[in-house]
Amino acid sequence: MTLRIQSHGDVTQVLMSSAVGRSIGYDVSAYLVRGVLVDLGFPLVTRALGRYLTRARPDGILITHHHEDHGGNAELAARMGIPIGASDATLALLQEPGRLPFHRRFIWGNPTPLHTPITRFASDALRLVSTPGHAPDHHIVWDAERETIFGGDLFLGVKVRAAHPDERPRELARSLRHAAALRPRRFFDAHRGPVREPVSALLAKAEWLDDTIGAIEHRIAEGWSDRAIARAVLGREALTYYVSRGAMSRVTLVARVRDEGRLTSVPGA
Ligand SMILES: [Zn+2]
Repeated sequence: MTLRIQSHGDVTQVLMSSAVGRSIGYDVSAYLVRGVLVDLGFPLVTRALGRYLTRARPDGILITHHHEDHGGNAELAARMGIPIGASDATLALLQEPGRLPFHRRFIWGNPTPLHTPITRFASDALRLVSTPGHAPDHHIVWDAERETIFGGDLFLGVKVRAAHPDERPRELARSLRHAAALRPRRFFDAHRGPVREPVSALLAKAEWLDDTIGAIEHRIAEGWSDRAIARAVLGREALTYYVSRGAMSRVTLVARVRDEGRLTSVPGA
């Protein structure tokens, strides 16, 4: 397991990867800023992260969302007595993580449920802002004074042609616009590191998503199958499709647009 430290002035990037993750290009970063660590990495790096936490001694931890590559070491931090800030929804999901699909256990490891009682952490300078879409409990961390966003998995790239089964693409587009409206000068992505010109990057992704959702909706209305739509609008499935046995895929993105459309078109809802 590898943990690499990279400095960006007042922000320290803690880049974590496992051998399996590296072989398929997966890593994740936590960020230390103002004595607070944003996110906690994944279960396979627990020991290395424990040593890091002992050295760095953060005043508190903020967790963007419950996914195992962000909140996967919450129990470790709780046992070390480090205060934790997260939404109630995130904490509930960390307490009862449910069974992960095989590929996620393989890449990131199986999280230990959060059972140790925690001291809740809140920071005046770093605020959790609800940005659902990638996951229902997703938040970004907003440093208004330094005009900096720690984005968790909000961005990940402009054209992400795959989705996992609990994503909501329309909600994600709204959250991207919400984050762009904060006018961040800097944006630190959990998987991409620092993002250049974050406002235009966030808006470009929101626009790409809107266009893609529009193209998918158009074909849904014409009666196309999800697989045919995925092929026509998003192209051939990529490596993640095979690694995740179809869960993280283009056809899932189409299915999520279809399902979200059903949910939002319920009369009176
Ligand atoms: Zn995630």
